[in-house]
Amino acid sequence: MDSSERRRRPARHERSVVALAFWSGLPGAAFALWWAWGQPHPLHVQLTVTLVVVAAWLGGAMVLRERVAWPLQTLANIIAAIREGDYGIRAHPGDPEDALGVAYLEINTLGEMLRGQRLRAVEADALLRRVTAEIDVGVFAFDAGGTLRLVNRAGTRMLRRSADELIGRSAGELGLAGALDGESPRTLDLTVAGASGRWEVRRSSFRLDGRPHALLVLTEVSRALRAEERDAWRRLIRVLGHEINNSLAPIKSIAGSLRAQLGRPVRAADFDADLAAGLGVIENRTESLGRFLAAYSALAKLPPPRLAPLRVAEWVARVAALEPRLSVSIRPGADVTITADSDQLDQALINLVRNAADAALESGGCVELSWTADPAAVEVRVDDEGPGLPDPGNLFVPFFTTKLRGTGIGLVLSRQIAEAHGGTLALESRVPLRGARARLRLPRSA
Ligand code: ADP
Repeated sequence: MDSSERRRRPARHERSVVALAFWSGLPGAAFALWWAWGQPHPLHVQLTVTLVVVAAWLGGAMVLRERVAWPLQTLANIIAAIREGDYGIRAHPGDPEDALGVAYLEINTLGEMLRGQRLRAVEADALLRRVTAEIDVGVFAFDAGGTLRLVNRAGTRMLRRSADELIGRSAGELGLAGALDGESPRTLDLTVAGASGRWEVRRSSFRLDGRPHALLVLTEVSRALRAEERDAWRRLIRVLGHEINNSLAPIKSIAGSLRAQLGRPVRAADFDADLAAGLGVIENRTESLGRFLAAYSALAKLPPPRLAPLRVAEWVARVAALEPRLSVSIRPGADVTITADSDQLDQALINLVRNAADAALESGGCVELSWTADPAAVEVRVDDEGPGLPDPGNLFVPFFTTKLRGTGIGLVLSRQIAEAHGGTLALESRVPLRGARARLRLPRSA
């Protein structure tokens, strides 16, 4: 209700206060008038009494009307000011013991509280606007009809148009219709503003003015993916180059020296032995390249696990018995069964035990296999007393190896197997003890 409307309406409350005062004064006034006019008094006494009675009666009613209406008017003005957002206006604090004083006190407290809330809301709004403007992901809000209502700075950069040009356009016109339905989050190939790329799409809904809206967050992933791919290729080429060179260089030098010997008119007496040794090296290097490629294929072609129940105790004992170079001791945990692909898990654990045995043999230590189980997962540990880990940052880089005949595939393959089962693989130094510990954690039901 606005104030003009309020003014137009009859002041019913005030009139009823006046009426109340009138009726409450009526018996007294009637009695006084009866006393003045009903008794034999001189006329001037009768007139004076009548004047005084009527003046006191009507004046009292008016004063009472003011006393009741004025504080209410003050309270209404303060509430109106608060409603308009003017929190500076205050009621004069009256006596906190009387009803009016309490009302003033409460209205002042309410004003103070709303002022604090408004301030916090303005600050939070400013912070939110700043964050949305600064973040490097596109944020778009669409109404139920698919019309853009809000876009942040990254969104305008992405669509290469100003916010004013974008707001009010439909998702279809902006090339974002595909992102408004389907699964969320997901990655999507989108062509926006003439450029195509891979985007991660996250969608949620919110209500504005009681109406449903969709909030779309788009993150460009192609650039990050390309950088990762470039990195992976660089690593792969470095390792492949190193491995192939290691094989080609001796093959080339041996072939050259054998050819030189063949060209001589008289061959040296030990030529046959040289030839055999040279061919042996060539064979050896070719085999090594073959091994390397086989290991690489194993990594690239890991099939999805075929799940079946697997008793952890049996699996661990079977793998421990496969290590021929030293005896692997077992510290058994709870007798639990997990759901897993036993061939793949054998392979993963064989790699870890082989690494542990390599390390332990280097420094004359032991290898121990143990496991613990909680309601969600089983953790198998392979502890060795070897020299410890070389460079923890490189361990899971494909083809990283510090061994003469190593492939650098074992740990990567084991981790891939663990992750394909929803588990993890980590390697750490056993500080302050000697050696390293591999922790293979697998969910009890994949
Ligand atoms: P490979 O055994 O063929 O070298 P891996 O991927 O299995 O390939 O291991 C990569 C490297 O990680 C090894 O060359 C070795 O330097 C290091 N490593 C793995 N396990 C251990 C361990 N238990 N103790 C010390 N170093 C380890």
